[in-house]
Amino acid sequence: MKKIVDFSRYSSIKIGPKVEVEIIEEISKKNEEFFLIGGANNILVSPNPPKLAKLSKKFDYIKIKNGELIIGAATPTGKVVSFCKKYNIGGFEFLSKLPGTIGGAIKMNAGVKEYEIKDVLKWIRTFEGIIKREDIKMEYRKSDIQNIIYEAGFELKNGFDNTLLKKLLNLRTNQPKLPSAGSVFKNPKGDFAGRLIENVGLKGYRVGNMAFSDIHANFLVNLGDGSFKDAITLINLAKEKVFKKYKTILKEEIIIV
Ligand SMILES: Cc1cc2nc3c(=O)[nH]c(=O)nc-3n(C[C@H](O)[C@H](O)[C@H](O)COP(=O)(O)OP(=O)(O)OC[C@H]3O[C@@H](n4cnc5c(N)ncnc54)[C@H](O)[C@@H]3O)c2cc1C
Repeated sequence: MKKIVDFSRYSSIKIGPKVEVEIIEEISKKNEEFFLIGGANNILVSPNPPKLAKLSKKFDYIKIKNGELIIGAATPTGKVVSFCKKYNIGGFEFLSKLPGTIGGAIKMNAGVKEYEIKDVLKWIRTFEGIIKREDIKMEYRKSDIQNIIYEAGFELKNGFDNTLLKKLLNLRTNQPKLPSAGSVFKNPKGDFAGRLIENVGLKGYRVGNMAFSDIHANFLVNLGDGSFKDAITLINLAKEKVFKKYKTILKEEIIIV
């Protein structure tokens, strides 16, 4: 089945063309020809993207089986947090207000501070079957997973931590409300991308209708009808200026498709 997706509406940064997207209903090697999109909260879609696919609702489920939490890759992170709260399960508090799907969170090794999905993950299912966590390389905002994740198994730990949840939610108070894809660059070791962008004078800097937020410089925000071209101009400008001043190479966290 195919569906037309308008990325200027669907993606969190509200940029991108209206294109045909394959809706995946079954696990198959054939699906590997597509670039898989999850909730599109960490991607910037160009006017000419590769062939795209998205998992169908069939992959949106949460179950408890054999002492594990088994989650379909298309399940929204918010749903996982609600489930854990309801059944008093710990370890997933950091996914609160971290938008996306479980598949996207695993591929990106999403996290907040010292809490990352790699620490609760036990296995993933791809078209080749189950791959154990110890056979997957996962580090700060990246994994070496090359195939589509259909479902994943997680540790089932008792005790949803409301205090931790509040602490993590508090961290989001300085997060811009305008459309963005979260942090645009990864933090270089021992530093903050936001600090570097601010120190080269780009905090609040605008090109067309895109800007580095004046609240948090590492958020590239869409002020309304911002374009892909303007987003790329700003990304390149920040990389150039930061390299010139600090000899630090900023690496995109955002994935350009
Ligand atoms: C306001 C805001 C706040 C954010 N805060 C945080 C934060 O605190 N911490 C953080 O880590 N991130 C944060 N992000 C970024 C984003 O939420 C995460 O990267 C999230 O995990 C992306 O999930 P997604 O489903 O939207 O993935 P997408 O953006 O759709 O895709 C991201 C990548 O994952 C791949 N992918 C998606 N699904 C699958 C799958 N089933 N199998 C294989 N690959 C897949 C895609 O191919 C792509 O490479 C934030 C984003 C926004 C907009």
